[in-house]
Amino acid sequence: MLSRLSSSVGRNRVSVQKRLISFEFTDTQKEIRAAALQFSKNVVLPNAAKHDKSGEFPWEIARQAHKLGFMHSIIPEKYGGPGMNALNTCIIVEMLAYGCTGIQAAIVGPSLAISPVLLSGSEEQKKKYLGMLAAEPIIASYAVTEPGAGSDVNGVKTKAVKKGDEYVINGSKAWITGGGHAKWFFVLARTDDDPKAPAGKAFTAFIVDGDTPGITRGKKEENMGQKCSDTRTITFEDVRVPKENILGAPGAGFKVAMGAFDLTRPQVAAGAVGLAWRCLDESCKYALERNAFGTPIANHQAIQFMLADMAINLELSRLYTYRAAAESDAGGVSSYNASIAKCFAADTANIAAANACQIFGGAGFNCDYPVEKLMRDAKIYQIYEGTSQIQRIIIARTLLSHFRHSGTSKM
Ligand SMILES: Cc1cc2nc3c(=O)[nH]c(=O)nc-3n(C[C@H](O)[C@H](O)[C@H](O)COP(=O)(O)OP(=O)(O)OC[C@H]3O[C@@H](n4cnc5c(N)ncnc54)[C@H](O)[C@@H]3O)c2cc1C
Repeated sequence: MLSRLSSSVGRNRVSVQKRLISFEFTDTQKEIRAAALQFSKNVVLPNAAKHDKSGEFPWEIARQAHKLGFMHSIIPEKYGGPGMNALNTCIIVEMLAYGCTGIQAAIVGPSLAISPVLLSGSEEQKKKYLGMLAAEPIIASYAVTEPGAGSDVNGVKTKAVKKGDEYVINGSKAWITGGGHAKWFFVLARTDDDPKAPAGKAFTAFIVDGDTPGITRGKKEENMGQKCSDTRTITFEDVRVPKENILGAPGAGFKVAMGAFDLTRPQVAAGAVGLAWRCLDESCKYALERNAFGTPIANHQAIQFMLADMAINLELSRLYTYRAAAESDAGGVSSYNASIAKCFAADTANIAAANACQIFGGAGFNCDYPVEKLMRDAKIYQIYEGTSQIQRIIIARTLLSHFRHSGTSKM
């Protein structure tokens, strides 16, 4: 199936460029969507509760997803990958998230490590490190956050010191998705000793092989939701990395690390959209089945208004997510749109999950029903890949700068 789908992806990319305003999926997009949704409903969803309880990494599902081109889907065909564009990748993520965002995050989490290599890697780096992921359902991780620095990336303390043809890395990274299994890490480290050096010059980005001596993987974190997605602290102690593994130029790491988000935030948004959609479906089903005061609760206007609000925000967040992805496919600079998509979809997912629990009444608070998991899984969308506050800062800074230059906030 994949070769048939991916062979038309190139054509699809052109049609997206030409038809940025179209709200119709192409035939290829419809095929990808249907195949991913079928996989999600048949394979992901039935295993969601099991992996939520056990916290076990969904290797078997990853293997199947990889075979179908739903894992590492954005890796270009020339490196052996499925060659999906950003929009098609978002469609896949949304469908997987409908089934379970924990399994989806476990499977597509490596996209945050893939993106900086795609955007800034040399041909050799792409062949080696993207080729590795294209060949097998393995994991790579993006290691930027530290115990003392999350939103404030400029506070990163991990150091890389040049020694001959190598760099020696020391420091600790926190909350690293896929950290227990990563075959390689994207690592951001400070290479300028001067504490006053601007962020744009102070850091260097590296690809670090997972089996390099000096790397210690901490215990799997016990998180509120998305429980089968592996997050750990990773410690680097005198980890020697050849200078060939620098991504981009020495000193340009901050830009390399932040640039990846333009590509990945629409994907995170797509995950939140999938979750919000699942909330709405579960809520509709329950509201039509459950009776109160002699009628299905779906007939009570208060319930209808909650369903309508869920639908309004879901449709809008889906549209904006697709827009942000399509714009990056068309070569546009899209930090602003990526942040709007991520922020709005994350908030939408959280409101939808809270409303789904409300519609379920007591059953919404119970672990034998599906929606309490959705509420636990939703929270992280407002935190990882930049909190909702950070997204709002990016949006406000961009629009104010635009206003200063053009006299209008309209981009
Ligand atoms: C499950 C999980 C997976 C993750 N995966 C990864 C990963 O793979 N790789 C990786 O590098 N990181 C990862 N992270 C880290 C994540 O990106 C950070 O947790 C996030 O960026 C927030 O950083 P922090 O936790 O240090 O919070 P802080 O930066 O300490 O923020 C605390 C609070 O203050 C607010 N705040 C901070 N600064 C401002 C400001 N200027 N204005 C207004 N409000 C502000 C924040 O919005 C937040 O509400 C993951 C985290 C989790 C929980």
